Amino acid sequence: MTQLYQRVAFVGLGLIASSMALAMRRGGLVAETTGTARSAETRAIATEIALVDRVTDTAAQAVQGADLVVLCVPVGAMAAVAAEIAPHLARGATVTDVGSVKQAVNDAVGPHMPDHVHFIPGHPLAGTEHSGPRAGFAELFDNRWTILTPPDGTDADALDRLTRVWQGIGAQVDVMDPAHHDLVLAVTSHTPHLIAYTMVGVADDLRRVTDSEVIKYSAAGFRDFTRIAASDPTMWRDVFLTNKDATLEILGRFTEELFALQRAIRRGDGDHLHAYFTRTRAIRRGIIDAGQDTDAPDFGRSNR
Ligand code: NAP
Repeated sequence: MTQLYQRVAFVGLGLIASSMALAMRRGGLVAETTGTARSAETRAIATEIALVDRVTDTAAQAVQGADLVVLCVPVGAMAAVAAEIAPHLARGATVTDVGSVKQAVNDAVGPHMPDHVHFIPGHPLAGTEHSGPRAGFAELFDNRWTILTPPDGTDADALDRLTRVWQGIGAQVDVMDPAHHDLVLAVTSHTPHLIAYTMVGVADDLRRVTDSEVIKYSAAGFRDFTRIAASDPTMWRDVFLTNKDATLEILGRFTEELFALQRAIRRGDGDHLHAYFTRTRAIRRGIIDAGQDTDAPDFGRSNR
């Protein structure tokens, strides 16, 4: 594989950045990597495990001379990071991000970007509930989707190069409008996370009644909710604050369906329940057929 970029700078060195850095190294895709994180502790760990070729103290230093800059911080931190790096970006560089919400990142970062760079937001649909520079692994993106949301008029060569680097680290790439991305993700990821958080919260309340039974018997389905609900609180707070409309839309539909099922249970309407569960079972089969999950009930998140 030929080298696609001379220098890639990661701003934020958590799960996603560390996985990208390892996967780029695996594929020999870039000549040099630099990176920085907010805390001295994370920077020290990144240096210790040689996650990137050069760890810098500031984002401004990291992006200097980079032809690809990847913003890997929580969505709520994107605007401040963009303002900090903007004066230091190299002419012709591509700036992308990995944030889980796209319209908000577009609005937060776009206005800070100078005319001489290509700004192409992105989102890899891959993750785990683990965080930090030690959480990354090179296989994270293998056979997963990455969605790019290039603004109108994006340079075709810059988009092509970014697409090829994602493909080089194992992902399949789709291009989408940011608002559409946010609606799709509200259905497939954001609302399910909220439901998992809620279910674990309910069980936590119940635990006070049933002592340790919730933990003891958690293998029967609840365990998968706890995995999701262990995801990073800052990241998920920012997801809901910035994908508000789409999440509320899907939550409204979810609540209606839930009430319909509640009514069926109350009325003893077994036909309704059976028909509903038959329909949802077919959806699960479709996801497995599409290669986006295994049979294991793990929310598709641990592909190691
Ligand atoms: P992570 O492991 O928690 O790492 C976040 C990184 O951002 C850390 O290096 C952290 O620095 C830095 N950071 C946090 N707050 C900051 C701030 N206010 N200013 C500057 N830097 C800050 O997170 P991640 O899972 O890699 O997620 C990064 C991005 O990827 C998020 O936008 C998230 O929405 C998106 N994403 C996540 C997943 C997933 O499943 N985890 C999947 C797809 C996309 P310190 O370590 O020094 O605090």
